[in-house]
Amino acid sequence: MAEKVRDKNWGALDAALQYYVPAIVVVAAVAIAMVYADIQKNHLHQENLRNGVAEELGLIRARLEGGINANIKLVQGLVAVVETEPKIDQTRFSALAVRLFDTEHQLRHIALAPDLVVRFAYPLSGNEKAIGFDYRTSETQREVAMQVRDTGRMAVTGPVDLVQGGRGLIVRYPVVVQTGKAARSFWGLMAAVIDMDKLYDYGGLNSENLGIEVSIVSTRGGVSNMPFFGNPSVFLGSPVLMPISFGNESWEIAARPKGGWDQPAQNEGTFRFLMMLVGAMIVAPVAWVARLLRERQANIAVLRQRESELNAISHRLELALTASGIGIWNVDLDTGELTWDNRVRQLYGLTEEPDSSLETWHTLLHPDDLEVSERNFKKAVLRDRDYVAEFRIIRPDGETRHIRAFGTHYRDSENRRKMVGVNWDVTADIRLQQDLREAQRQTEQQNEALETARRHMEHNSLHDALTGLPNRRYLDQHIAAIDKLEHAENRLTVLHMDLDRFKDINDTLGHGAGDAMLRHVAESLRLNVRDSDFVARIGGDEFVIVCFSQLGEEQYLEMGRRLISAINTPITYEGHECRVGASIGVATKTDRNSVVAQLLVNADIALYEAKRRGRNRVERFSDQLRAQTVNTKKTADAILRSLAAEEFIPYFQPQFDAHTLEINGVEALARWQHPQRGILAPHAFLDIAESLNVVSQIDATILDQALFQLTRWRANDLGVDRVSVNISAQRLFEETLLERLDTLTLEPGSLSFELLESISFDDKGDAIAQSIDRIRAYGIDIEIDDFGTGYASILSLVKLSPSRLKIDRQLTAPIVSNVAQRRLISSIVDIGRSLGIGIVAEGVETMEHAAILRDLGCHTLQGYALARPMSGDAFIDFARRHAQERQDLLLSRA
Ligand code: C2E
Ligand code: CA
Ligand code: CA
Repeated sequence: MAEKVRDKNWGALDAALQYYVPAIVVVAAVAIAMVYADIQKNHLHQENLRNGVAEELGLIRARLEGGINANIKLVQGLVAVVETEPKIDQTRFSALAVRLFDTEHQLRHIALAPDLVVRFAYPLSGNEKAIGFDYRTSETQREVAMQVRDTGRMAVTGPVDLVQGGRGLIVRYPVVVQTGKAARSFWGLMAAVIDMDKLYDYGGLNSENLGIEVSIVSTRGGVSNMPFFGNPSVFLGSPVLMPISFGNESWEIAARPKGGWDQPAQNEGTFRFLMMLVGAMIVAPVAWVARLLRERQANIAVLRQRESELNAISHRLELALTASGIGIWNVDLDTGELTWDNRVRQLYGLTEEPDSSLETWHTLLHPDDLEVSERNFKKAVLRDRDYVAEFRIIRPDGETRHIRAFGTHYRDSENRRKMVGVNWDVTADIRLQQDLREAQRQTEQQNEALETARRHMEHNSLHDALTGLPNRRYLDQHIAAIDKLEHAENRLTVLHMDLDRFKDINDTLGHGAGDAMLRHVAESLRLNVRDSDFVARIGGDEFVIVCFSQLGEEQYLEMGRRLISAINTPITYEGHECRVGASIGVATKTDRNSVVAQLLVNADIALYEAKRRGRNRVERFSDQLRAQTVNTKKTADAILRSLAAEEFIPYFQPQFDAHTLEINGVEALARWQHPQRGILAPHAFLDIAESLNVVSQIDATILDQALFQLTRWRANDLGVDRVSVNISAQRLFEETLLERLDTLTLEPGSLSFELLESISFDDKGDAIAQSIDRIRAYGIDIEIDDFGTGYASILSLVKLSPSRLKIDRQLTAPIVSNVAQRRLISSIVDIGRSLGIGIVAEGVETMEHAAILRDLGCHTLQGYALARPMSGDAFIDFARRHAQERQDLLLSRA
């Protein structure tokens, strides 16, 4: 990717370069020419500079050389005089020197040393110390002095630093005197010091107008020494060099321009500027041309690009128009001339070119749409607006199509008003829309059906199918809704109704009769409540009525009674007259904060009370009832606790032979040894225990304890070897009973089970018979308890073949005064006798009863007159005492 971008950049650069190559070449040539000219110019400048320097230096050199030589010559003159006057004295020497110093010179002083010892000096002042200086003993000067003496030629040394300060050039001359005709001998030395500063002044080196920088070096003996004048650096960088020579001495003088060699020529700036100007004048047009060329090329490229884009767009447009079947038309608004492209013709189903006019279009329009379409088009033209329309056409082949059109105004190059537009076929769309609308209509219909079904289902789910009354669910919802409402003044009352003995109808006449009865009840309720009351069937034979009103409780009790009497009206089902009773519990909302659900519970409690009080009646809920319920609850809890703590114990009531009054059996009766209330009889707990489903547990514990007592009696030899226990229907069907019996080894006839006659032997006939047969197999006797109060048929009793019947105490009680009652018992005795069943009479409260019952044929007697139920221990005492008494009696008779 990055590479591609780089390539592209290089490509662009290449293209740009292509146009600028001539310009670049011209620029290069001009630059070379300019550089060359500049070099040449510089060369010339350097040459001029050097010439100038040489000129000036030549002048200085000449003056320096001239100056030195002039000074040497001047002193040489004096030497010549001294050579002629070897006997010279200081005065003469001074006189000669004064003259010498009068002329132009650069001398500082001169000294004369005959025999190499300085004797005279000029000027003397300042040079007094020099007098007496001996060259021969001087370390530094002896050599030069000897050289001068030996060679006989003058010697120049220096410049040297002078003791007196400053610098000087010392010239030493030999003084040779004529000793003979041809003999000359060395006389002494003449020393002259040329002042260097003065010499430089003379040479013009200190002139302020000097345009050059000068340095001088001594080159004596070919050795290059350190320059003694000027900046030594002058010698570096090719200075102009010139020699100076005098005596046996030689110097080299070097010079350079004051600003150095690199200083620019005076008009260099201008020169360069002009050159640049000329260069620019050459390059600019070339670059301009290159630029124009490049732009032209770029423009051509853009044009090509545009062209290909345009081609692509028109290709795509063509493709789009073909694919979508959109046709294009064009109208000259002034002439009405209409042009169609092929696609429009195809849309209209035309094969050949039609007349080019709006009329052609009109003839193809559906007659119903003609007027509107024409009007629309005219409107768009007049108002200079876009034209948007939808219409039908009838094609030559007779097919109707839906067309949509869009047009827009424009002016052509000759400024003529025109409209260009498109047409496309929307028949499919329109049909789709129609289909969609149809589908939507059907969906709505379906939804309606669904909604009806849903409502139906909802109704079903909230109503009882049999009676059409709201059901339990509906009631719950209704209650929840009520709870949410605030009913300030209206009091809420709930009536809970339960049918009495409805089951009997079902059992005896079948479910059809039951259903008819339920419908009758529902109808009776509907007719006897107000419209605002809510009646629901909440269970098999349970109904609830929820009422809002200002009615007082009494009125509700009245209403309840009315409902019961309506329900009591008998109906006829398949020729049978059926009648049903009902009990109602009423609860009214007294506390605004209590919830309706609680009201239902209260009504249920009241209903329970109504049933308990003997059915077919109305009871209202009261605080007392509530307390009773609470109490029942407490008792229930206590029962459950006591069961675990084994606080249910048997009491024993002996049974006596009617003739001998000997004990021939014992009935075990349950007692509750209540921790606080003491020994309690069954009526205090049996109902509640039944509702708790624990009676069978009580039965079990009583059985166990009774059997234990039986073993005690035998061990004590009481002669009592038969005990009977009461057994509930529930217990009768329990597996645990049989499991328990399996663990026992019973002597046949020592244990008997008392079954209440109210256990519906007819209902579960077979099941009971089976169960009883199994029990009997253990050697256990079966007795029918409370005989005469139930509805057991004689037949069912025969089936059971019990060992004994126990005549209920309600039947025995009235026999003393009531003959009919006596006859009833007599007939029971007869039945028993005919079936081989023993007869026991219960509730023998007086000895009179005992006598009558004995005479009526009862075999066994049980009752307060003979003995009350007592604890196990008490019974053992009783049995002993009774046996004793019987023996005493027999003995006394005997
Ligand atoms: P039941 O089987 O008919 O028991 C006889 C009831 O009559 C006993 O009442 C007894 O005390 C009472 N009784 C005996 N002689 C006389 C008399 O001369 N006059 C009067 N008025 N009553 C007499 P109890 O003990 O209160 O038992 C009541 C009922 O409780 C029993 O009636 C029986 O149906 C039931 N029951 C007692 N114990 C048990 C038990 O262990 N299991 C079951 N399932 N029920 C029991
Ligand atoms: Ca009994
Ligand atoms: Ca009984």
